Amino acid sequence: MRVLVLSDIHSNLAALQAVLDDAGEVDITWSLGDIVGYGPEPNECIQMLQSRPHVAIAGNHDWGVLGKLDLADFNVDARIANLWNREQLTPESLAYLQALPEKRVEGDCTLAHGSPRYPIWEYLISSNVAGANFAHFDTAICLVGHTHVPILFRQVAEDMECQAIYLPEAQRVRLDDARYIINPGSVGQPRDGDPRAAYLLLDTEESIIEHRRVAYDIAATQAKMRAADLPRRNSSRLEVGW
Ligand code: ZN
Repeated sequence: MRVLVLSDIHSNLAALQAVLDDAGEVDITWSLGDIVGYGPEPNECIQMLQSRPHVAIAGNHDWGVLGKLDLADFNVDARIANLWNREQLTPESLAYLQALPEKRVEGDCTLAHGSPRYPIWEYLISSNVAGANFAHFDTAICLVGHTHVPILFRQVAEDMECQAIYLPEAQRVRLDDARYIINPGSVGQPRDGDPRAAYLLLDTEESIIEHRRVAYDIAATQAKMRAADLPRRNSSRLEVGW
């Protein structure tokens, strides 16, 4: 099965459209949370996902718009954008987000937004923290988002040790029998210094992954953010990938 793995779309329809076009035909799309927040088109991004075979889980920004998280825990620009996103959402979009689980298992893969241990909030930014998380899922692979940085953690030994490996772009990488935690990066707000939208293709039969980047019309998204009076910092960061 050819799976499109994407995360952290953040209401950026131009970036999502570019990813879907670039990925080509897939059997299913797995969305790892944070469909909304930050950007200007939350309903359109939800509808775009709904128009294709997919499964999805919730992220902290999805819970933010639902009032399931205290927005005091968000930085001020994220909070303003989250409140704006909340106002835009149709009853159908709210119902869709409300139904998203925190975690799910698809074949050999566990899907969690932040981490398998604390799906909504934990950031896997170091091999120590990632290593401790291997005890919190049973499948060979766990797919996460949340940091907006594409990375792969490979478990070296049962004692929680693991390697952090930056994913090479546009290279098909065959996974061995080790266990993995893999982050595809962010579609709508990359934070690794590369402003292009990030995603992952996964061949579940061959255990092959391919990390890809695709340029999109950043200016178009920024113009919509300006028109909506969304925080300037949120739009300017898009062009530097931070
Ligand atoms: Zn996010």
